[in-house]
Amino acid sequence: MTLTTIHGWPRQGPGRELKRAIEGHWQGTVSTAALHDLGAELRAASWRQQLADGLDEVPTGDFSSYDHVLDTSVMVGAIPDRYRGADPYFAMARGTQDVAPLELTKWFDTNYHYLVPELGPATVFTADAGKQVGELKEALALGLTARPVLLGPVTYLLLARPGALELLDRLLPVYAEVLADLRAAGAEWVQLDEPALVQDRSPAELAAVDRAYRFLGGLTDRPQLLVASYFGHLGEAFPVLADVPIDGLAIDCTASHDIAPLQGKRLIAGVVDGRNVWANALAKSLATLQSLAKLTDRLDISTSCSLMHVPLDLDAETGLDPEVRPWLAFARQKVRELAILKRGLLEGPEAIAAELAANRANYRARRRSPLTNKAHVSSRTAAIRPADLRRATPYADRRAAQQAALALPLLPTTTIGSFPQTDELRVARAELDQPAYDERIAREIGDILEFQEELGLDVLVHGEPERDDLVRYLAEPLSGFVTTKHGWVQSYGTRYVRPPILAGDVYRSTQINYHWTTYAKDHAGKPVKGLLTGPVTMLNRSFVRDDQPRAATARQVALALRDEVVDLEITGIPIIQVDEPGLREGLPLRQADRAAYLEWAAEAFRLTTSRVRATTQIHTHMCYADFSDIVPTILELDADVISLEAARSHLAIADVLDGSRAVGLGVYDVHSPRVPSTQEIVALLRTALAVIPADRLWVTPDCGLKTRTWPEVTQALTNLVAAARQLRAEL
Ligand code: GLN
Ligand code: ZN
Repeated sequence: MTLTTIHGWPRQGPGRELKRAIEGHWQGTVSTAALHDLGAELRAASWRQQLADGLDEVPTGDFSSYDHVLDTSVMVGAIPDRYRGADPYFAMARGTQDVAPLELTKWFDTNYHYLVPELGPATVFTADAGKQVGELKEALALGLTARPVLLGPVTYLLLARPGALELLDRLLPVYAEVLADLRAAGAEWVQLDEPALVQDRSPAELAAVDRAYRFLGGLTDRPQLLVASYFGHLGEAFPVLADVPIDGLAIDCTASHDIAPLQGKRLIAGVVDGRNVWANALAKSLATLQSLAKLTDRLDISTSCSLMHVPLDLDAETGLDPEVRPWLAFARQKVRELAILKRGLLEGPEAIAAELAANRANYRARRRSPLTNKAHVSSRTAAIRPADLRRATPYADRRAAQQAALALPLLPTTTIGSFPQTDELRVARAELDQPAYDERIAREIGDILEFQEELGLDVLVHGEPERDDLVRYLAEPLSGFVTTKHGWVQSYGTRYVRPPILAGDVYRSTQINYHWTTYAKDHAGKPVKGLLTGPVTMLNRSFVRDDQPRAATARQVALALRDEVVDLEITGIPIIQVDEPGLREGLPLRQADRAAYLEWAAEAFRLTTSRVRATTQIHTHMCYADFSDIVPTILELDADVISLEAARSHLAIADVLDGSRAVGLGVYDVHSPRVPSTQEIVALLRTALAVIPADRLWVTPDCGLKTRTWPEVTQALTNLVAAARQLRAEL
């Protein structure tokens, strides 16, 4: 027997129906029952589609109304007391006016964000299998072969901050209950996801894995257990899992894998990349499957990880470059690839000869395409000299020059770039013709400037009203990137992004937002900061080429952005912010791979920013991640001002940067509708001032304001400016 299966599916629905319904629910226009019904409809439609595309065993429980880690916290009863009011689920996710939400952070090295479990010695775990059982029953009622997917206990505890593995023995009985409930509901197999096992794990942690799965495997009333790993190879965790009494293992076979014979265990081989969009190299996957088939009695075929990290359906993209289209596969296409591979494995390569030939031709075309072979791009990257990677003047001298040129007050206030993206702007984008839309944007920029001047902010921005999507917008003027119309991928909660596809060699074909930045400068009474997304984030938030090293792609992108930075300086923009919110998420999961990544990442940033005069101030911005392990790299970017979020991680970062650089500290958590009071901001800033000298501290929100409403932003920025002024008066 060989089955095709997957670990998970995009949640939003073909038209992002889920997003709209949840946001409607928050506004009070969609009832809890209606939201639940829509979820059930979306799940049923997804499963039917998976089946039609050739999937044998569908996952259940992978659906979520916000986040699967939050769902797990609910499943094990880890709901902190302060949320136990009317709607604990969304209160934990988003906070309320009275309580802050759970901390949000990146899911391994992806751009998905999960809500960090809040666990401690006082946590009492209780089982609530309701969601899992309900979704399994829905699939079984449709007559499907279904496998519930749960986040495994070890990874769940390790995702808490700080890790809470010492609670394992209290958590395991709760998992046992959930497993029994699923068994009673008809589950034959249950998958426990343990992606944390592809990271370096200590002997004590590996011992915990051993203990956990001896316990769960030893239960009598349980379904068959499958432990899934993804985003890398298991390494020293493989022998541990091979030895415990579980019934199957799912592994990521897209990079290296470490499979030894697995007697009596089911092996699910993730040969189709679940997190990138390239059509599978079928012959190579088939060879991998054939060799794995020798090591196990039962081999099933899968994607490397959940398909929630890729867009839903390539067929929805009617406007794609016809040359690039055959190079690609989105979620639905990947399921079809699994079905082809299954045929090839069971019936032999001859059975899929036509598919293999087309696939080979397709790969050859991609290799030889003018899109991937631009001579002027390769000669420019080849000509990069060490001097192109460093600013000519050291930081201390630049700092003095910039102070003289900018004459800013102590604790200068600014924002990170975007202002609210209102429905009205979205409608204008969809409905107006170009001249009318441009006029609308110009008016918006005028209003945003006036607003900032009235509030008393010190450094202004144009507000990015023209930017519908962080990275996609920037990718459009860059040749080599392909953008999609419907390629939505969940970032967190109801936020979805359309990552561009880095398909070919990159150069800047037209200016990026130079026009609007210049427009703002000409209409502002205070210094205007230019805004760009940095090369590393562009890479990490795009589907990146798999036919050349990422470092090479990064250099191409950096040179394209450098052209824009130079143009902005020439037109008289005194401050240029190059955002790198995605730098941390590209950090390899294994320690051994990190130094190389950090080196090319910092180099790409410097290649982008180092061509400016000493008086031009380079800012960078990063948000929502644990920065503690990349502090040296943050300093190596050699930016003049580094702005980081602090509201959610409570200043943990401020004392790590040693006061040698100016720091913009995010004192307004823009991911929550909650508005901080002046007193709260003052208190945060006072804590910061204990480690950061007053002449190096900037006061900012945590991130761009695009997801917030105007009333929230008005109040929050008023408080922010008031707090800065109050402290300034005391200094
Ligand atoms: N300049 C961007 C904005 O304000 C930064 C976004 C980000 O860092 N995530 O929206
Ligand atoms: Zn940000």
